[in-house]
Amino acid sequence: MVDVVVVGAGPNGLAAALTIAKAGRSVHVIEGRDTVGGGSRTAELTLPGFHHDVCSAFHPLAAVSPFFAQAGLEAFGLELLQTELPLVHPLDGGRAGVLHRDVAQTAAGLGVDGPRWEHYVGWVARRWDVLGEATLGPLVKVPRHPLTLAGFGLRGLPPLTLAGKVFRTPEAKALLTGASAHAFLPLNRPLTTAMGLALLGSAHVAGWPVPRGGSQAIVDAMARQLESLGGTIETGRTVRSLADVPPSKAVLFDVTPRQLLDICGDELPAGYRRRLGGFRYGPGTFKLDYALSAPIPWTNPDARRAGCLHLGGTLQEIAHAEAEVNRGRHPDRPFVLVGQQSLADPSRAPEGQHTLWAYCHVPQGSTVDMTDAVERQIERFAPGFRDVVLARSTIDNAEFEAYNPNYVGGDIAGGSHGGLQLVMRPRPGLHPYTTPNPRVLMCSASTPPGGGVHGMCGLHAANAALRGVLR
Ligand SMILES: Cc1cc2nc3c(=O)[nH]c(=O)nc-3n(C[C@H](O)[C@H](O)[C@H](O)COP(=O)(O)OP(=O)(O)OC[C@H]3O[C@@H](n4cnc5c(N)ncnc54)[C@H](O)[C@@H]3O)c2cc1C
Repeated sequence: MVDVVVVGAGPNGLAAALTIAKAGRSVHVIEGRDTVGGGSRTAELTLPGFHHDVCSAFHPLAAVSPFFAQAGLEAFGLELLQTELPLVHPLDGGRAGVLHRDVAQTAAGLGVDGPRWEHYVGWVARRWDVLGEATLGPLVKVPRHPLTLAGFGLRGLPPLTLAGKVFRTPEAKALLTGASAHAFLPLNRPLTTAMGLALLGSAHVAGWPVPRGGSQAIVDAMARQLESLGGTIETGRTVRSLADVPPSKAVLFDVTPRQLLDICGDELPAGYRRRLGGFRYGPGTFKLDYALSAPIPWTNPDARRAGCLHLGGTLQEIAHAEAEVNRGRHPDRPFVLVGQQSLADPSRAPEGQHTLWAYCHVPQGSTVDMTDAVERQIERFAPGFRDVVLARSTIDNAEFEAYNPNYVGGDIAGGSHGGLQLVMRPRPGLHPYTTPNPRVLMCSASTPPGGGVHGMCGLHAANAALRGVLR
């Protein structure tokens, strides 16, 4: 008998387990795959010596997360590294929107939009103490800083297609658009701008760091710390029903609603099952990893110094691509997220060589191979890219779901962030982590604050258990 069993060793499952262990309670983690990590794993997907992030690559959310701030994982081997520039958004003709960590430097490069960048995005960074708590914290009933939250609401509520008009230059518009497109939503939807502002603000506050050795280093450090506190981890065992779970006072599930319904079945009342059945999943993902013989020959020189690049051109082009995906179609020119982690971390590839991480959004459940469309977008801004490719690996929606059952239909965000699900997930209500069965709780990215490696879903769910069933 342990106090808590955690099902799933993703960043949220491990954050939940660590929170329980640090509270002096016993905890056992069960993970379906042979290694811990969920969406934070690194593997030699192409050639020996090339270490690719299978899923998460950039960790602004970990860098600003209250969970990671107090976790003390550096003592267990975690080191976050910065690239020279967090983000560059190339445009045709060799131009580019360039995001520096420093707000003033970014503004200085944006011409007439400089003062607007200071006022609009710089404002978010300057008030990050309040906004970070609001975006990563539990649902706040009475906001402690209503004016700041109202200011963020005014900036973030309008759809990106409207908010983009704040800027005049294609560069500033593109920077805001690419960050907002992380929402996987049509960019004419309300609140898409909020996602962009939060990601850009976090870049100004903490950069978009990459862990030395790959994103696996984050969860490995968490697992080491957990074991040092007496927690136990069992890998290679998939939980298919509550009967598979050893006796415990509480079970925290790092899974999405569809899996929770399959596993718990009649142990949850019919009304709750119906409400959870209405949970919506978002579009899918087509992922590519490359082993490269040399750095990518980007036309824009700043792009050669960036950790992350957003490819897709102007605001209008990216809005069109994301609308197509959400209509179930495959854009000819997809929005592509690119990562050059080996620029900051030479351990990712043999000396002088590099890794490239890239993915584009595709319709939920799509089986279309997007390799050619993605490579055309890279060649558009880096002619000669294909000449430096040594090897390539691809992962489509079905392969993603087989790799991690939380990626339902290829949705890597634990469910759509559209509508109320941006703030209230897995269902409307102020107690997202608990269920009507006091022993069963959810701690995955399908709960607030949603997708990303920040551990906050796990922290909040563990605290809900400590305040409730474990009290
Ligand atoms: C291509 C891609 C790129 C991404 N890029 C970023 C990024 O740059 N930055 C960022 O912050 N985030 C990124 N993410 C998102 C991030 O990886 C996830 O949001 C995050 O991992 C969610 O953590 P989690 O613990 O909720 O779930 P997961 O990480 O999905 O972990 C769930 C774990 O539970 C296990 N499991 C599921 N069902 C069972 C079962 N029945 N029995 C036992 N074990 C089970 C799974 O095997 C898995 O290990 C990316 C994801 C992908 C796929």
